[in-house]
Amino acid sequence: MEPMKLPGPKARALIKRDSSVISPSYPRDYGFVMDHGKGSEVWDVDGNRFLDFMAGIAVNATGHSHPEVVKAIQEQAEKFLHISSDFYHIKMIELGEKLDEIAPFEEAAVTFMTNSGTEAVETALKLARYHTGRTNFIGFTGAFHGRTMGAVTMTASKAVYHSGFYPLMNGVVHAPFPNPYRPILDRKRGEDYGETVVRYIDEQIFRQIVPADEVAAILLEPIQGEGGYIVPSEGFFPALRALCDKYGILLIADEVQSGMGRTGKWWAIENFGVEPDVITSAKGIASGLPLGACIARRSVMDWSRGAHGNTYGGNPLSCAAALKTIELLEREYLQNAGEVGQYTIDALQEIAARHPSIGEVRGIGLMIGVEFVKDKTTQEPDEGLRNSLVHNAFERGLLLLGCAKSVIRIAPALSINKSEIDEGLAIFEEALTLAEKGE
Ligand code: PLP
Repeated sequence: MEPMKLPGPKARALIKRDSSVISPSYPRDYGFVMDHGKGSEVWDVDGNRFLDFMAGIAVNATGHSHPEVVKAIQEQAEKFLHISSDFYHIKMIELGEKLDEIAPFEEAAVTFMTNSGTEAVETALKLARYHTGRTNFIGFTGAFHGRTMGAVTMTASKAVYHSGFYPLMNGVVHAPFPNPYRPILDRKRGEDYGETVVRYIDEQIFRQIVPADEVAAILLEPIQGEGGYIVPSEGFFPALRALCDKYGILLIADEVQSGMGRTGKWWAIENFGVEPDVITSAKGIASGLPLGACIARRSVMDWSRGAHGNTYGGNPLSCAAALKTIELLEREYLQNAGEVGQYTIDALQEIAARHPSIGEVRGIGLMIGVEFVKDKTTQEPDEGLRNSLVHNAFERGLLLLGCAKSVIRIAPALSINKSEIDEGLAIFEEALTLAEKGE
């Protein structure tokens, strides 16, 4: 396939204007300047078409501008745009009811609504301190939870997120995430690596760093996102839940990236057979409108009037989009994510058999990571190859997004179909073959 010359002239002119007025902190990877999108297809301002395998970082759950989502937003916009969370409106109540229905715990669920993922995490941290009367937290290396002060402290995926911002929030200790592909702790004979990590928290962290009875919560992504789309081994969550129960510690699942149907279930933690106490959501929840949620067991969300609040939480446009998103997921896309996800993983395994640079293909549903290595035995990450692949794919009409050091995350809309996957993976393999040749 002939590569496109990108960015095109209109895109280049806009990128130049952007660079003089927009914060230089945004981590832009390549010069895609969006004009419009439909489902899993997008067009740039020069009229070039692309397949979208990253959905605005796992956000456009129902695809770009799903007509039913657009209509729900339009209908709400004609009624009112904002009233503030100091007052009541039906869309916010209906969304709270729906989240109660799909929350991953038996107990009734109560929701605090936010505008972003980081704010949902911040809410969970404050709630954990308030509810337990304890101050400290356990997080995991490789984690990404956002960029406000509490969430960025819990984040441990790249030092650049912390550089220049110390002192961060007090009272956070990070344990190694149970990455089965790259274990770093010594496992006892017959022990699942996830159990090893939990034993490390109990025997090392609680004994040597922070007493368990002063820990408010353990916060983690059930499948790590930015850290490399890492699925923990089977024994991890049952052991972690037992640890939390032993010491009265809350278990908070950050489902901002992994939730809202991406794994074929409402929440990724449902794949591991345990119930958390609190979850955070954002990204896919409203198909692209800004909305986040901290959803807790009723007995945990026990703070008093005025303890926490915001201006825009439960914005009516975002709630209308979220209600329609959930309806569409229930109707077909939740199932589609499971089916097309497995189809994609199988196809990627076939590609991996032809390309020794692929160290591992992993994931559940449409949350799929492909890790690139210089050598399958040493597993040395191949960051350069991953970066070339992303750029080659872009020039051939496929939007990809990296994560961790040498991983590609495949996180398309949950509405994507098999022929779009086939088309995208053909470009993926061509781009990879070129990258392997050093192009
Ligand atoms: N938590 C997780 C797991 C995320 O992946 C992200 C964003 O990538 C966040 C929190 C922060 O969300 P936001 O960028 O909406 O603040």
